[in-house]
Amino acid sequence: GPKELTLGGSQEMTLGVMGGGQLGRMFAHAAQQMGFFTAVLDPDATSPAGRISHHHVQTAYTDAEGLARLAAVSAAITTEFENVPAEALNQLAQSRPVAPSGAAVAIAQDRAAEKAHFVQCGVPCAPYAVIETAEQLAAIDANLLPGILKTARMGYDGKGQVRVKTPAELAAAWADLKQVPCVLEKMLPLQWECSVIVARGAEGACVNLPVQRNLHRDGILAVTEVYEGNVPPALAERAVAAAKSIASGVNYVGVLCVEFFVLEESHPAAAGLGGLVVNEMAPRPHNSGHYSMDACDVSQFHLQVRTLAGLPLVQPRQHSPSIMLNLLGDIWPQDGRNGGVPDWASVLALPGTHLHLYGKLDAKKGRKMGHLNVTGATIEQVRATALEAARILG
Ligand code: ADP
Ligand code: MG
Repeated sequence: GPKELTLGGSQEMTLGVMGGGQLGRMFAHAAQQMGFFTAVLDPDATSPAGRISHHHVQTAYTDAEGLARLAAVSAAITTEFENVPAEALNQLAQSRPVAPSGAAVAIAQDRAAEKAHFVQCGVPCAPYAVIETAEQLAAIDANLLPGILKTARMGYDGKGQVRVKTPAELAAAWADLKQVPCVLEKMLPLQWECSVIVARGAEGACVNLPVQRNLHRDGILAVTEVYEGNVPPALAERAVAAAKSIASGVNYVGVLCVEFFVLEESHPAAAGLGGLVVNEMAPRPHNSGHYSMDACDVSQFHLQVRTLAGLPLVQPRQHSPSIMLNLLGDIWPQDGRNGGVPDWASVLALPGTHLHLYGKLDAKKGRKMGHLNVTGATIEQVRATALEAARILG
């Protein structure tokens, strides 16, 4: 982290972030809460984080002059999305501490490199093959079908993925994806999915949030539930240990989310980890960690600030069971009803609801506009409130 941390005096210290989306915005809010100024680099004039930061460098992510301006005002710099070019982080790192490093982000932004890293850490992932050439396509092991063809780079929220059953479908899907480098993953019988957020400091100290149980709809996270007993304790322990080894294996500094599939314990793909298969990692806070903003004493964004500023890492404590509901653009009324926005007043009339909106200007289908955290004394209470909120929101 920055060599001399000065907080709360006459000195101002600025933390920088590459990317101005909702994750950057929530990082900036956490940083500002602790007395930091924030700087955002994002080409969009109306980016959620750019609009609430002290500095907004409005250039492309690869713009050398923009990067120099970000570095000039920032004591240390992080990223809020994995597709920021690793070279941009490397340029910033020449003059400022950057966490996570360009090298760690480069692994997370390429599914092939990411899977190779999991294998190297001894954490099982879905059986897969890399497809970069017609020869590799022709040589695909029939055991990988039915499978999911995923672009190696730039995929998110289920985009850049095609489910295929036969070699002919696979060939057609690869052609549809313009024959860019891909991985073919065997389709696994998922029982459910979970994720773990870890925060690792420059000296190797590593803390984690409780294991999150996630429900996806159409490839997009819909609901996260975190409460005592949401996950069998032995499985939670294995997931946390795997996430920590994945982080330490790249000497990771910052907040990292690792997503897992849960299969039947006896499934051969998950043999090494008793039912767990690692799916992917995100080199930043994650949608599935948003509940921590209201249900934990230290949120994933506070952890990001601490790792970036070299502040002490303490194990967060969850003080309330919680359910997070993602709020996609789909629930914004299209007919102008209620001023064209969902009925927040009725939702906020329910005890234990915490509304987070990202300040995005247009509500498109499938676009993440905000999330609703629900907390309460018991998970039963939380579930009843979440169901009622979901009913109101439609
Ligand atoms: P993204 O980067 O878009 O989040 P993921 O690789 O995490 O893409 O896939 C999105 C979702 O699709 C997963 O959360 C899971 O529900 C489903 N999925 C992905 N890969 C597999 C697989 N090999 N077997 C079964 N379901 C899968
Ligand atoms: Mg995913």
